[in-house]
Amino acid sequence: MAAIKSTNTTAERRLRSALHARGVRYRLGQVVITHDRKVRPDIVFKMARLAVFVDGCFWHGCQEHCRRPGSNSDYWAAKIDRNSKRDHVIDAALEADGWTVMRFWEHQDPSDAALVVEQFLRSLRRPAFQHRPVTEQRTIGISVVGKHASIN
Ligand SMILES: [Zn+2]
Repeated sequence: MAAIKSTNTTAERRLRSALHARGVRYRLGQVVITHDRKVRPDIVFKMARLAVFVDGCFWHGCQEHCRRPGSNSDYWAAKIDRNSKRDHVIDAALEADGWTVMRFWEHQDPSDAALVVEQFLRSLRRPAFQHRPVTEQRTIGISVVGKHASIN
């Protein structure tokens, strides 16, 4: 299967450094194996089950910037439509397995995108503790108190 785009595009690198600047850590080159396929998101947060993609405006058919070339326009239109259908299939496969999918356009400000990712990751932390059954809360309560002790 041919790759839609080269990995490590400029837009992707910008988002990675914006995340890094915010102190958000991630691993590179992670593959997510869903029930029916292997997916290679641009950035993966395994624990949070968050898959991030940075989509090229041309290849993924951004409404604002995707100018389909005049010659061979049918060819390009079909190709771009195929890509965007494939994106939907990938998103559905990930979401069916409990993943959250975030897609950013390459034209979007990488620091805005990084902020969205960071806020999502932060939003997961507390509820993860709050929703634990009472019996478990007691055992993990010690470490939570311990971590917060320096704040008080
Ligand atoms: Zn665009």
